[in-house]
Amino acid sequence: GDTLLRVEGLQKHFPIRKGLFKRQVGAVQAVDGLSFEVRAGETLGVVGESGCGKSTMGRLITRLLEPTGGSVEFEGRDITHLSTGAMRKMRRDVQMIFQDPYSSLNPRHTIGTIVGAPFRLQGVKPEGGVKAEVQALLERVGLNPEHYNRYPHEFSGGQRQRIGIARALALKPKLVVADEPVSALDVSIQAQVVNLLDDLQDELGLTYVIIAHDLSVIRHVSDRIAVMYLGKIVELADRKTLYATPGHPYTSALLSAVPVPDPRRKGHGNRRLLHGDVPSPIAPPSGCRFHTRCWKATASCATIEPPLIQLGTGQKVACHHPEHGPDQLPGDAPLVE
Ligand code: SF4
Ligand code: MG
Repeated sequence: GDTLLRVEGLQKHFPIRKGLFKRQVGAVQAVDGLSFEVRAGETLGVVGESGCGKSTMGRLITRLLEPTGGSVEFEGRDITHLSTGAMRKMRRDVQMIFQDPYSSLNPRHTIGTIVGAPFRLQGVKPEGGVKAEVQALLERVGLNPEHYNRYPHEFSGGQRQRIGIARALALKPKLVVADEPVSALDVSIQAQVVNLLDDLQDELGLTYVIIAHDLSVIRHVSDRIAVMYLGKIVELADRKTLYATPGHPYTSALLSAVPVPDPRRKGHGNRRLLHGDVPSPIAPPSGCRFHTRCWKATASCATIEPPLIQLGTGQKVACHHPEHGPDQLPGDAPLVE
């Protein structure tokens, strides 16, 4: 499809201020130079551990946050620094679904009021009236349209996420960004909600960016997947290629379910254990940000940042020593720390 969203060098640094004069003493480098595009009609999955900047990325591309660097283009229009007023119009086309259906629904409002809110906020009057439109939306997401007068607490977690989805779809958006849409739900309910999102995409011609912390949730719905680590994209690939032949060691680790005794030892097939926590985004590691946890790290990995390079398989990988394809720094000495 055509490019719906294009992101170039996207950056968000949150300043850390201290003392009486609120002097800036540092910055959280939440998102640090992302470039990618989202094509009309596709689902881009975005994966990474907590703290990798994926939620910030979601808020930047829906312009709930303003970037500190780089640019965001929607349908060819630069929306990087749009004013709040100009953003309001764009809100019809770009909607967000949040992780927690409990906290994102006002407990004092009926679901009719909640799902109908976008019409009032945007001054849109649907043809058959708001109530009929809301009831049609409820039915479309698998809820009883007669329940529009009930309150959020009367619904289960899965049903509440359906309410959130109905609200997001009210104004027929083009792009829907879903931030961990099922991670707060029981595993048995997750597949139902994921399947609902998939059906709605086909029915309504939606484009999705789905953010998740593990690769299992987005496995079946994503056309392409971006893997993020500490504010950067380390791999960008179509789904089949990513699962069959992951190119970045971090992707291999995310895909490995079975731990190995010593992650720095080779010869365990594709099984990689990811050990330790994600380092702080306030002072990310030099060179390749993954080098403190990578079993393949060489001396140069700690000093030279690997660019995102396209491999022969078509996937883009930011690694000096990718899992397959040409070694970018052959013969480099092992990293000793
Ligand atoms: Fe590991 Fe080096 Fe590749 Fe980074 S660049 S992922 S440290 S091998
Ligand atoms: Mg789909």
